[in-house]
Amino acid sequence: MKKALVCGAGGFIGGHLVKKLKRAGYWVRGVDIKAHEFAPTQADEFLLLDLREAHNCWHALAVDGGTFDEVYQLAADMGGMGFIHTAECEIMHNSALININMIDSAARIQVPRYFFSSSVCVYRDMALDEPTLTEADAVPANPDNEYGWEKLYAERMALAYARHYPIQVRIARFENCYGPEGTWRGGREKAPAAICRKVAEAPDGGMIDVWGDGTAIRNFTYVDDMVEAIYRLTQSDLQGAVNLGGEEYVTVTALAETAIAASGKNVHIRYVDGPVGVQARNFSKVRSQALDWQAETDLSEGIARTYAWIAAQVARAKDAA
Ligand code: NAD
Repeated sequence: MKKALVCGAGGFIGGHLVKKLKRAGYWVRGVDIKAHEFAPTQADEFLLLDLREAHNCWHALAVDGGTFDEVYQLAADMGGMGFIHTAECEIMHNSALININMIDSAARIQVPRYFFSSSVCVYRDMALDEPTLTEADAVPANPDNEYGWEKLYAERMALAYARHYPIQVRIARFENCYGPEGTWRGGREKAPAAICRKVAEAPDGGMIDVWGDGTAIRNFTYVDDMVEAIYRLTQSDLQGAVNLGGEEYVTVTALAETAIAASGKNVHIRYVDGPVGVQARNFSKVRSQALDWQAETDLSEGIARTYAWIAAQVARAKDAA
């Protein structure tokens, strides 16, 4: 039986990845600084560890009878645009320490395969209707925020270890990922979850606030599709970073309208000042085609599932208040 370590297993994508690996027949150890907030872990073993500390990374990697076959590194101090713009020092300090210590420990322990979760935040902003950027276009670098700079550094560090140690490194640059069992309130939530929550909280005929003017373009990839892509990329021989996301690019207004449609309510949108991030995204998916993968869940289906889960959380929180 193959053994996998999932770092960040108490988080959104890590939690879903544990389920995917269990379905694929792995023995899984999850590690996180906190337990999963929304669902009991399906990992065979779950360790609460602060991965900023090198000795905790060694602890996480220690396993009877050799090494883990695969390590999936998704632990990060992260959140949506509100968090990214306010917690710049925490992001750069904490996520860099996690990545520095995890790749160093994994390479020295001689883990054969190491997956790193990067982001399309490594790219510069784009103009509307600009042709696609490929993975190579991340350099010369000009990310819009410090989160992107930290990811770029961590990518390069992992690739340096791959040149000097017997470790295969696989790097995904995720587009926005959404779905149930992710942070939906508290300041770290990302746009799809925040908008679903606002719609769920709004009365029929009510109003939601959306940051910016609604014209920013994004891809939103449903989490089940993303964990399938992570798994395939890790098994593949694709070296270097790979953009992972669907082909569907929509405006933030379209995202909000999709959440409103899922609610069945009549809800109006008011545009307010707030941290929006980049204006446009459009990334080449040529490299990920080698994975024989494409996002299967379209936005309306994925948002319908996400809205239903968040509306249930909102109702539960209201009952508990
Ligand atoms: P998340 O915040 O839900 O999960 C990250 C997990 O890392 C959290 O559970 C957190 O507790 C854990 N963590 C933070 N500090 C830690 C520490 N010191 N020690 C151990 N664990 C620690 O985020 P997510 O959306 O699941 O993202 C997973 C990865 O994917 C992250 O690296 C993120 O940057 C990347 N990513 C996510 C998206 C997205 O849209 N969700 C997009 C691009 C990249």
